[in-house]
Amino acid sequence: MRAMELLIPAGNLEKLRTALFYGADAVYVGVAGLSLRAESAEMSLDELATGIGEAHRGGVKVYAALNTFARDSDLPSVKETVGALADQGADAVILSDPGVLALVRRNAPHLPVHLSTQANTTNSAAVRFWLEQGVRRMVLARELNLAEIGAIRREVPEAELEIFAHGAMCMAYSGRCFLSAFRNRRSANRGDCTQPCRWEYRMVEATRPGDPFRVEEDARYSYLLSSKDLCMIEYLPEIAAAGVVSLKVEGRMKSPYYVAAVTRAYRWALDAFRNDPAHYCCPPEFLAELAKISNRGYTTGFYFATERITEVNPDEKYRQTHDLVGTVLEYDRPQRRALVGVRNRLSAGDEVDLLLPDATIGLDTETFTDEHGLPLREAHNGYRVYFPLPEEVPAGAVLRRKLPMS
Ligand code: SF4
Repeated sequence: MRAMELLIPAGNLEKLRTALFYGADAVYVGVAGLSLRAESAEMSLDELATGIGEAHRGGVKVYAALNTFARDSDLPSVKETVGALADQGADAVILSDPGVLALVRRNAPHLPVHLSTQANTTNSAAVRFWLEQGVRRMVLARELNLAEIGAIRREVPEAELEIFAHGAMCMAYSGRCFLSAFRNRRSANRGDCTQPCRWEYRMVEATRPGDPFRVEEDARYSYLLSSKDLCMIEYLPEIAAAGVVSLKVEGRMKSPYYVAAVTRAYRWALDAFRNDPAHYCCPPEFLAELAKISNRGYTTGFYFATERITEVNPDEKYRQTHDLVGTVLEYDRPQRRALVGVRNRLSAGDEVDLLLPDATIGLDTETFTDEHGLPLREAHNGYRVYFPLPEEVPAGAVLRRKLPMS
């Protein structure tokens, strides 16, 4: 059985390096101006060249998202970008627009093409159609179940099938939604969703604006439009049996901590599955790691059902037990200490873990110092602090903090 690929979002160069550090097989990145993600989750072509070089040195593939729905005014830029990506050695482009596909086929005929989930591929005839257009891999619509995916695989065995395995779910069909554009002028279809489907709504009669009706399922909140997050780490055998070759994690806008924690947990799981596929059973500690990142409760989405979204329930409106503290910048061997770039407030006494690919180390937060060795009781975003550490740790390792109320 072919090992399934772990495909991780890399919204910028830092997150790409984090994904490499924690064991991604491949990363996907946005190209400035041409992906379905906001500018904060895109890379310039220069950054991309650096990222591709570093990834390839570690044997990791880089897929570049060009999944904008291009206007004619975008086409010169698409053409130029496609040529640059081919020169830089991108391993594939991800697209959804037939016009963009035509430009790729014409200008970079050897550049492999993956079809974005935005193309809503839901059946074997569509998969065969795209295959005949030169598309190698299909990122199937999230609304399919595993039985349907298995049937597609049997009908079109020569196509590579990729699915979303982890991350936020959308109430709209494969993200085709104007709610965010309508509510605050930030379009999901341009990759800039502000998730208004998860806001709390009330109904107001026009002449009595100060007297809203609550739209509620219980006393605290309405969950009518809120979905739990997808998590398929327990079901790797079922996914492999359906013929899927790549597991995609959602979240190019998420933090480096999210990238670290999800990559690490799925790496452990995929390695365990590969070593003993017949007896794979997801250990509780893998799930516990995923519970420590921001989530809204987990669901298997549509994979075992027909057209089903699982609403957030009152006790799972929003969960997060840990957040990002910072990352290791370098290890000072003579002094046996790690220099950390702080990203969120850190106080003496905080419970902080250092995440390594195969281990978690608790740090003593009573002993951190500033760059001159002076003891600190608190540090903020932008501080550079030293933690004493007897063992050398690599740059790029992420530190997380247990939140006070968790
Ligand atoms: S508003 Fe909600 S349903 Fe619409 S695209 Fe954003 S996450 Fe999806």
